[in-house]
Amino acid sequence: MSFAARVIDGRAYAADLKRGIATEVEQLAQAGARPGLATLLVGDDYASASYERRVRRLAEQLGCRYVCEHLPGDAEEADVVACVGKLDADPRLSGILVLRPLPVWVSEAVVYRALDPLKDIEAVHPVNAGLLALGRPRYIPSTPASVFHMLDRHLRDSGCDPQDVYTRSNMVLVGRSNNVGKPAILLGLARGATLLSCDVNSFKAGLLYEHTRQADILIVAAGVPGLITGDHLKPGAIVIDVGINPVEDSRTGRVRLVGDIDFDSVAAVAGAVSPVPGGVGPITDVWLLKNTVAAARLAMGVAAAQPEMSAARTDGELIPG
Ligand code: NAD
Repeated sequence: MSFAARVIDGRAYAADLKRGIATEVEQLAQAGARPGLATLLVGDDYASASYERRVRRLAEQLGCRYVCEHLPGDAEEADVVACVGKLDADPRLSGILVLRPLPVWVSEAVVYRALDPLKDIEAVHPVNAGLLALGRPRYIPSTPASVFHMLDRHLRDSGCDPQDVYTRSNMVLVGRSNNVGKPAILLGLARGATLLSCDVNSFKAGLLYEHTRQADILIVAAGVPGLITGDHLKPGAIVIDVGINPVEDSRTGRVRLVGDIDFDSVAAVAGAVSPVPGGVGPITDVWLLKNTVAAARLAMGVAAAQPEMSAARTDGELIPG
């Protein structure tokens, strides 16, 4: 099938980023340091477990230390907090990722507050979330960072000045979670876009079509397979699909991962679209390691991490001082 839209190759962008991180890891090794990543998985959520496996593989390929703490699905909040405390205290670990979802009886807020802010590479601790909101991030969380890395690169590769495009664009975000949607709003605002944020209430009010049709750039992170169709779009829009949803294939009975957009109808109307799999996900995996390396440098006191939120520097380089 041929589409009007250009399909954005997240795997190619991720491969470029990965090369840069490998060089950074080598430099750290020469200085006698080895970045270490810890993941904490509670229960057996399909998407989280597959994310954990991808991150493990990547950490090992890059020569980083890696540990996964896997607690049973019936773990108590105190067990999860104690596990975070153990990871906080281990000087060999630079960054910690708490995988979602946590069991309903475990408060995300309580667990996030237990993280050492210097190891909180997803910026979920209130201090890091606050720094991000103030435009002075210690870390930019990997998924929203990857969305904008993808957008910045796509625009540059298309011969555009990203800053110019953003300032002339209506950007609509569907999904407003603390982990993905809200930090993405901050990154969009930092780029000077005019921004509209929708969540499930916009959907229930029947306003989603009206809002999404105004988007020059549409970012979808709702966790609802097929939520956005071609009818939701302004022709030529750039559509970034963040969703990763496990669905069972009715023919084979096997589980596969799909995004939040109905790809075929969207690609027939959009100017550019990111696929699932092969879009934001691979960049997110690599960005997590990028933040781990940044945390290792912070722990060494090499540089104060101050990643740039605008399109000027989206490579996550550290700004000294
Ligand atoms: P979440 O459940 O925490 O938040 C979902 C958000 O979408 C909420 O703001 C909710 O109000 C909104 N929403 C739900 N249904 C909606 C509807 N019908 N219309 C409009 N808005 C609706 O989820 P999350 O953690 O933000 O993740 C969102 C999606 O992104 C999931 O599919 C998740 O698996 C995926 N994800 C992908 C990556 C990646 O690297 N690509 C990383 C993290 C999460």
